[in-house]
Amino acid sequence: MFPGYRVTLSPAPNSGSIKPRRVAVLGSTGSIGTNTLDVLRHLPNRLHLVGLAAHSKWDLLAAQCREFQPRYAVLCDREAFAAADQACFPRETELLCGEDGVAKLVTDPDVDVVVSAVVGAAGLRGTWAALEVGKTVALANKETLVVAGPLVTDLAARRGAKLLPVDSEHSAVFQALTGYVAIDVARVVLTGSGGPFRGKSKAELETATPDQALKHPTWRMGPKITVDSATLMNKALEVIEARWLFGLDAGQIDVIIHPESIVHSFVEFVDGSVLAQLSPPDMRLPIQYALLHPDRVPGPARKLDWKSLSGLRFEQPDRGTFRALDLGFEVAARGGSCGAVLNAANEAAVGRFLAGDLAFLDIARCCRAVLDAHDFDPAPPLDRLLALDRWARREAARWACGR
Ligand code: NDP
Ligand code: MG
Repeated sequence: MFPGYRVTLSPAPNSGSIKPRRVAVLGSTGSIGTNTLDVLRHLPNRLHLVGLAAHSKWDLLAAQCREFQPRYAVLCDREAFAAADQACFPRETELLCGEDGVAKLVTDPDVDVVVSAVVGAAGLRGTWAALEVGKTVALANKETLVVAGPLVTDLAARRGAKLLPVDSEHSAVFQALTGYVAIDVARVVLTGSGGPFRGKSKAELETATPDQALKHPTWRMGPKITVDSATLMNKALEVIEARWLFGLDAGQIDVIIHPESIVHSFVEFVDGSVLAQLSPPDMRLPIQYALLHPDRVPGPARKLDWKSLSGLRFEQPDRGTFRALDLGFEVAARGGSCGAVLNAANEAAVGRFLAGDLAFLDIARCCRAVLDAHDFDPAPPLDRLLALDRWARREAARWACGR
């Protein structure tokens, strides 16, 4: 008879004796921010909210404060701070303003974990301030690593700060990598839904509108990342994010299209074995995993419906049509100043597309032009990266097709 092996799991720790983790959320009024608050709402014994930061939506921030009664709330935008009705905030909450307010929140000794969920390069400063004082950062803001990956991971290492991914693909890779070391890993394959324009031809996409680009088939996200998903720039940024977060060579990272968004990425090991992480497309799971790492507890995220699960499809990305993807592989390989320039050009180009000032396919063309025109620096310090960010935004703002 076949000898039976039994896996014996250790008994669960007594959750009554676990102190809640104390959380600060940067970007609380956005898609990741509100999903984070839903995780906190469901796990009050494990997670406690110390403070929130938003840019301009002061009325939503005030409503969040009335529900959670945090010690701090920050409005980054000075005009919104001046316009905010203080009477809408509970008495327990101190309302702060701008970057100083964010710094006060993330460095507070009572904060254990900072959720970095601001959109764009604007998220770098708060993430940096948190890492500088050794806080654990649950990182949704991939742009932080795209702009300054080597500086950010070096800072985290020097300060003993943990950087835990919230991006679903990177959370999947992180989970699959647990227990392994660099020489075990052959490559990482990031999955992507393909976005709303999967299967469309270049000719069809010449006239694609913002309304069409904002209709994502599987995820509900903020407008910038939704457009990035339509161009596949989101996957490009994720290739760069994975390169720095996991210390991989660019050649070890690949992308595959998976329309169902159930397999969140693969890790292939040197012996040929492949591990993946699966779950329905629901950001509350990777957010919870980053907040409670390494614990797993029942939470609010949707579970796989095994009865309705049928085929999982995979296909190669159309790199001829979705040119942004090549930019991601190229920038991951070159490093240096390229990430900051690509990211800033993309933010400016997406802004122009949403304003009706740039055609859909011109987003990648504009990014290519600005990247090619920049003065490459192999190891720029932070202030040089920030100067290049400003330069690339100006270039992208005045770029015209054919110039
Ligand atoms: P949203 O646009 O929904 O939210 C952005 C948040 O950032 C809002 O709280 C907004 O405040 C705040 N914000 C905007 N500009 C600034 C600024 N200049 N300074 C400070 N705060 C600012 O974005 P998402 O939640 O979709 O995305 C957030 C980050 O997470 C992005 O980096 C994205 O790539 C990443 N991510 C998102 C996923 C998702 O499912 N949404 C999945 C994986 C990664 P206000 O609303 O008050 O203006
Ligand atoms: Mg992602």
